[in-house]
Formats: sequence, C-alpha cells, structure tokens
Amino acid sequence: MEKKILIVEDEKDIARMLEYNLKKEGYRVAAVHDGAAAPALAAKELPGLILLDLMLPGLDGLEVCRRVKTDPRTAAIPIIMLTAKGEESDKLVGLGVGADDYITKPFSVKELLARVKAVLRRAVPAAEVREVYRAGNLELDCARVLALVKGKPADLTAREFELLKALMAAGGKVLSRETLLERAWAMDAAMEIETRTVDVHIGTLRKKIGAEGRRIVTVKNYGYRFEPENK
Ligand code: CA
Repeated sequence: MEKKILIVEDEKDIARMLEYNLKKEGYRVAAVHDGAAAPALAAKELPGLILLDLMLPGLDGLEVCRRVKTDPRTAAIPIIMLTAKGEESDKLVGLGVGADDYITKPFSVKELLARVKAVLRRAVPAAEVREVYRAGNLELDCARVLALVKGKPADLTAREFELLKALMAAGGKVLSRETLLERAWAMDAAMEIETRTVDVHIGTLRKKIGAEGRRIVTVKNYGYRFEPENK
C-alpha cells in the first residue's frame, strides 16, 4: 500500500524537491512550512513517516519531534530529521528526542529514498494504532477513517468525520465551537474560520448519520456534545 509522508521544511525549494521525488516513487505527500502547525497536522493526517527539518520557524524540529512522540495518537509515527552539517546530528537520535533516523543536508535523492524505505520497513503497522468508537448503530473506525451506520459506510467529508470523532472521543462532555474548530480543522487555520462554520458542518453530519444524528446535542450559545447512551 502506498504510504503518506509528511514533510516539515521551511526551505520551500527543498520541500518541493522532496515532494516531487517522493511522489514519483508513489508516496502520497503532505507538506507544511512551519513547526507550530506540524504536531496537529501529524495527528490529523497520521502519515506513515515524517521528514522533519531541524531549524524551523514557530517550533523547532526538536520540539516538534518531542510533541509528536509524546502524543499517543502520533507516537508510533517514525521521524527522519533533516539536519545541516555541523548540527551534531548523531546526538539527535541518541539523545532520546525520539527521532528514528537523520540525514544531513545536502543529501542525494537516492540516499534519502533509501532511508525512507528502510524506516518505513521497520515501522509498526498503522493497524496497531487502530481506535474505534461505538454508540448504538454508529461505529467510528479511526484507523480506516470510516463512519459506519448499521454496518454501512456513511459518506462523510473529512471535516464531518473529524467533528464526529472529536465529539465521540469527548465521551458525552460538551465541546465549544472553538474547540471543535481546533480539533476538526488544523489548529493554525482555526482563527480564520467563523465558528458558525461548525454549525453548518454539524447540520450535514447529523443528516448523514440518520437516526443516530440525534445523539449530537446542541448546547445553546456554546457548542455541542455527543450522547453516547441509548435513551
Ligand atoms: Ca530550516
């Protein structure tokens, strides 16, 4: 199966070169140019591997690495650090930051692809981080990004899926619109989206999951919660 790779690199020429060559090899690619957005994006995309530059605006590569490796949703994702000469790269792997490998710039494409292949081969299969939520006739399979109603897939958009996941994961607790924006849209985008966008997506989500849609309860002037119990 093809694997998705997340590139975190602020030098756009390098990011583009990586993206081009990885796509040519059949990988799917997502890219982000600053460190601050990287941990949330990793949790959302659940890539098979992260290529992580060390010197980044926002959060530096070490801090991104630490956050990804301490978040249970992303801890199993292998990381290859991209470092410049003289950055004592060997210590990154040894120091317990949790990087799986590193490669020193400038590197050849051939070398990079070989490292990527080797790290992916060693990686824990994604099936082992599988997470499933159930309520009544509704089942949410996070590893397969699938919502099932009475065993049949509901045709949710990515946002609707993330909204439902956030609500079900909260176990009946009320979530504000702002929190839902943060969880279902990438964190960095949250500020530019109006909170009523959440209402629109909740509306379509409710319709798509049929009778189970009544479990999504509106909390007036605040947000939503998911009712896990059958009443
Ligand atoms: Ca950099």
